[in-house]
Amino acid sequence: MADLRILLIGNGGREHALAWKLSQSSRVASILAVPGNGGTATCPKTTNVTSVSASDFEGLVKFARDNDINLAVPGPEAPLVDGVEQYFRLAGIPCFGPTKEAARLEGSKTYSKDFMRKYNIPTAAYQNFSDYNAAARYIDEVDHDVVIKATGLAAGKGVILPSTKAEAKAALKEIMVDKAFGAAGSEVVVEELLHGDELSVLTFCDGYTFRSLPMAQDHKRIYDGDEGPNTGGMGCYAPTNISSQDLIERVDREILLPTFRGMRLEKQAFKGVLFTGLMITADGPKVLEYNVRFGDPETQTVLPLLSVDTDLAEIMLACTNSSLEAIAINVVDKFSATVVLAAGGYPGPYAQGSLMTVREPPNGSTIFHAGTKLDLEDGQLKTAGGRVIALNTVGSSLRAAVDASYTALSSNVIDFEGKFYRRDIAHRAFRVSQGSSMTYAQA
Ligand code: AMP
Repeated sequence: MADLRILLIGNGGREHALAWKLSQSSRVASILAVPGNGGTATCPKTTNVTSVSASDFEGLVKFARDNDINLAVPGPEAPLVDGVEQYFRLAGIPCFGPTKEAARLEGSKTYSKDFMRKYNIPTAAYQNFSDYNAAARYIDEVDHDVVIKATGLAAGKGVILPSTKAEAKAALKEIMVDKAFGAAGSEVVVEELLHGDELSVLTFCDGYTFRSLPMAQDHKRIYDGDEGPNTGGMGCYAPTNISSQDLIERVDREILLPTFRGMRLEKQAFKGVLFTGLMITADGPKVLEYNVRFGDPETQTVLPLLSVDTDLAEIMLACTNSSLEAIAINVVDKFSATVVLAAGGYPGPYAQGSLMTVREPPNGSTIFHAGTKLDLEDGQLKTAGGRVIALNTVGSSLRAAVDASYTALSSNVIDFEGKFYRRDIAHRAFRVSQGSSMTYAQA
């Protein structure tokens, strides 16, 4: 029975992917996206809503009540860190996502580092500081390279990887003295620079039971070969060839189990989806960061790996009412590759409002909109962001998935002025596979 009316908050590629998968559920009657994007505007069962702001929590609750919403799904971190879950909970509307207190795992890097230390969760060595001089002295004293992290949310810009101690102290001054990120930089974490392969894992949790999706690898840098400045993510693939069964079990045992148990012991049981950013070091997996929501573009990459009979709406509801144990999460035995198309100039200043053409992709591929909007005045689809749109393909091998994505893109299924994309998504998997015993990437 289609009994669920969902309020989906956000306007990125992640939210289009969520709407796409949620709309496949026989339980879902309708999805109201606040504000949504050009992709959610044409997604089945989905309607964009602009009459209420995503940051007006009282307005969202009133809107939810007026529209008989019975599941709220905040996509981005800001509303969760600001406590939107409590507004819905107090109104008796299930909300998929952690409490404000549990969202500190992402909202406060000093909190999350102290939490990891307390529960023996492997992470980079660190110290927290609220005083610039003490932090600068620490940088001089330690004999390893450091990473500087502003504690609060800083739109993905609050992590600095300096090449020298002088650069590290300059970054520290910018954050702590010049307040480049405002209150988000009132405290900083100074931590050890780790080396290894980065992986992300998305894990559903209802406070007790947890279930992970296949591990994915994002491509943060703007240019091929992982060159140039960091971005929100230019592409992603899953599963990765380093995520062996052994590694998956180790991450469960050493990281996820103590994380969810620790949150219960803190009386902050985690309900929702936890994104764990991992560095696979020579000493094993270590946590780089927690996010308390779906990642982008990981979501566009791993949701297509869920089998058709796996119901995302049921999973989300089960996370809110502690019944995840009874829910089947089935993943197909395939590979998924996502290529992000960005606007010329991104991650610096870029044009918006360019006309777009988007054609039906070949079988096996799906297009997820991010920075797009359907102009209501002329009915045209236009660019409205830096990371504009992505194309995902699921294939029987990683090579097949990647090649099919690039073949579709080269035949211009998506077009707009100034578009560009990386040509080497999954390059690490292909490089590792050469001359090694790992075979899947060669297929
Ligand atoms: P975070 O938001 O903490 O994950 O940091 C953003 C990015 O900075 C990560 O995806 C890593 O690429 C990099 N990073 C963060 N912490 C470290 C670290 N301790 N060592 C090496 N790289 C790091």
